[in-house]
Amino acid sequence: MAAYTPMIQQYLKVKADYEDAFLFFRLGDFYEMFFEDAIKASQELEITLTSREGGGDEKIPMCGVPYHSAPNYIEQLIEKGYKVAICEQVEDPKQAKGVVKREVVQLITPGTVMDGKGLTDKQNNFLLSTTQFEDNTLGFTYADLSTGEIYVTVLTGGMNQLSNEVYSIGGKEIVVAPNFNTESLLPLQERMSLTISYEENCEPLNNMLPITEVLEQEKLKVTVNRLLHYLVKTQKRSLDHLQPAQFFQIDEFMKMDLYSKRNLELTETIRSKGKKGSLLWLLDQTVTAMGGRLLKQWIDRPLIDLKVITYRQEMVEVLIEQFFAREEIRELLKQVYDLERLAGRVAFGNVNGRDLVQLRKSLQQIPILKEKLTELPANMDELLQKMDDCEELANLLQNSLLEQPSISVKEGNIIKDGYNEDLDRYRDARRNGKTWIAELEKREREVTGIKSLKIGYNRIFGYYIEVTRANIHLLEEDRYERKQTLANAERYITEELKEKETLILEAEEKIIQLEYDLFVSLREKVKTFIPRVQLLAKAVSELDVLQCFATISEERQYVRPEFSPERVLAITDGRHPVVEKVLNSNEYVPNDCFMNNEREILLITGPNMSGKSTFMRQIALTAILAQIGCFVPAKSAVLPIFDQIFTRIGAADDLISGQSTFMVEMLEARNAIVHATQNSLILFDEIGRGTSTYDGMALAQSLIEYIHNKIGAKTLFSTHYHELTSLETALGKLLNIHVSVVEKNGKVVFLHKMKEGPADKSYGIHVAELANLPKEVIVRAAEILKALETPSSEKSPKIQEGTKVFEDDSQLSFFEMNDSKSKTSTPTIAKKEQEIIQTIKNIDILDMTPMQALNQLYELHKVL
Ligand code: ADP
Repeated sequence: MAAYTPMIQQYLKVKADYEDAFLFFRLGDFYEMFFEDAIKASQELEITLTSREGGGDEKIPMCGVPYHSAPNYIEQLIEKGYKVAICEQVEDPKQAKGVVKREVVQLITPGTVMDGKGLTDKQNNFLLSTTQFEDNTLGFTYADLSTGEIYVTVLTGGMNQLSNEVYSIGGKEIVVAPNFNTESLLPLQERMSLTISYEENCEPLNNMLPITEVLEQEKLKVTVNRLLHYLVKTQKRSLDHLQPAQFFQIDEFMKMDLYSKRNLELTETIRSKGKKGSLLWLLDQTVTAMGGRLLKQWIDRPLIDLKVITYRQEMVEVLIEQFFAREEIRELLKQVYDLERLAGRVAFGNVNGRDLVQLRKSLQQIPILKEKLTELPANMDELLQKMDDCEELANLLQNSLLEQPSISVKEGNIIKDGYNEDLDRYRDARRNGKTWIAELEKREREVTGIKSLKIGYNRIFGYYIEVTRANIHLLEEDRYERKQTLANAERYITEELKEKETLILEAEEKIIQLEYDLFVSLREKVKTFIPRVQLLAKAVSELDVLQCFATISEERQYVRPEFSPERVLAITDGRHPVVEKVLNSNEYVPNDCFMNNEREILLITGPNMSGKSTFMRQIALTAILAQIGCFVPAKSAVLPIFDQIFTRIGAADDLISGQSTFMVEMLEARNAIVHATQNSLILFDEIGRGTSTYDGMALAQSLIEYIHNKIGAKTLFSTHYHELTSLETALGKLLNIHVSVVEKNGKVVFLHKMKEGPADKSYGIHVAELANLPKEVIVRAAEILKALETPSSEKSPKIQEGTKVFEDDSQLSFFEMNDSKSKTSTPTIAKKEQEIIQTIKNIDILDMTPMQALNQLYELHKVL
């Protein structure tokens, strides 16, 4: 190391503390990177790799970015999951003896982004942390540095539960102890980009205690402290905006596992991974960024507490009825900026004049907003109480800030006249100076007789007197000193003008410095209001989400659902909220759904593409909408309060996790039947199709039996195994329903309408026809199907090698595989019975002579 130049030595010393980050090392107007960092950064950022002498044997790889465009590059690296340590010069290079002192002033990580593209308005950026305890429970906490929220809980469900939470919160970075077994996070890392960071320290830090008194206090503290230590270590600055950690319990909310949330496309769609097309996208009529973020949080955690749900419903109802008031409230809310993030920037010290103006504007809306709420014909006390208008702060900002201050805090033009006496005096001097200059211009014109003479100012030469070339001869020689020559004019300065210039510029300089000082102290004053602003932000976002529910409910004609303590589910004319919107709403076919304690499982049969999974999702989404307090897409709806929702609905991206589709299917099925209670909702779409026919059918049936006999959860089970429909006789609480279809001119038309009873025929071939499969394939398939439908005694189907066979009644009955459930004594008899039944069904008795009938009977007898 000794061979390196002092600066490179300094670099290496700093870098040693930030092994896992790119070190942005400030050199004048650039941030430079060296060695490995430089090589990697030049690739990731596509910037030129150079090298420099550094005293060692070889040249040192180097690349750099100009400091003013650094944020863009930093963002790119963070986006890719890296960390960036910002190392600044912390002393004036002019005063430095030897190498300028440099220090890392901030470590930016995926979970601690404060601004830029990485921070989406309507999305929280949570930094997560978990701490494993000896009893195998996991402390779990997450914080949004930009808004200051912190949440904490203790998970008893192990790694699975942690994965669920991490996935649904969608954090990009998780902080763990150095000895944490990170392998358990690998499956998650395959699904989402998750940076793992380490923090050993979880010692008591400050008074950031959870607000609720709970048994697990100690665990909560340790968990939160680790996160806080990491934040302090990386941010190296005031974090006054961090709010007291808020304790929550997973059991206070409807639980949905990772698969279900994804399958139901609550906040993003499976295919595009984007918000568009998701429930969140449909619902989002919020007008503030804070409201947008809260809406996502609400969707992620539907309620199970009837009292709270009812409270939300009542607010929504009032806001629906009071259309004009709601419109006014929306307009006012639109004027409210992102209070949470403004508070964060105030604490962080990177707030500017414009930010404070946004804060002022926002605060000015609050009294009007409160008045509007008071006028509503409902009890708004709870919301009103939380809505602190922070009057002192509003006044302070009103009196101190200009209407339109400049963005930079170092150029003056921020503070209002009358706020500070000294500032007023300097400004007077500047103003007087300017008046004086105007007078001087007038005087000079008179003395010289040059009408076009003017006094101007530029940054390089300061004040000057400008005279056109033609008039120069009119000037008194020794009074004017030449400063600058232009094409057809000369610029001069005089003693008098110079004196005034000094005064004016001095005043200018003082004004800028003083305005900056005043701004900083104003910022400090604003800081003391942060907790109040944050409370206000909560109330505002809540109001925003409630008006959003009202707006969407009215627009799409939703109804207020009732909740049934008897676990009745009765939906008339229900619709799938998103599909309905994407289709033209009059194209959507509404459907009823009725379930109660005697009818717990609906077995849905019908051809592909007929609307089975849409129907199932529709029920789940209706339940979720109801439990977040929104109205639901139906003519009327009575619902149980579900404690959990489980789904197994085809997923497109299971392959990423390296597991076979069938394995994932079984894992999800297991998860459902292990955790479901009779208050849960289970949706199984075509379960068992990932394996061979009998295998799959057997699994499907035994799952249904298990749910029916042991769990009693409300279950929607779609299948194309028609054999399963006969379960209706054995399982009292199971009902067959099917999607009705009509055939027109040999083509299939889906009515998307649910009917009771099993579906009678497979329409697969017609769907294939609709999909324009080659005619040859369709014809051949029809042939095979016909053969399969014909009793085997007459003709056994010739199956082409490699051809997939359609499941149909004429195939081996499933019950042959399963003695215990079989209603016939032996498998062979069952098969023959099937054949006989099929043959009898096919007979057209009215078209037979007695002789033909006798022959037929003879044939049947032969089969036995
Ligand atoms: P399945 O699960 O039976 O294969 P889907 O539920 O995927 O069928 O539905 C197939 C298509 O039919 C969907 O893309 C949707 O656009 C349309 N669809 C489903 N249900 C309805 C409905 N009730 N009204 C109108 N269109 C529907």
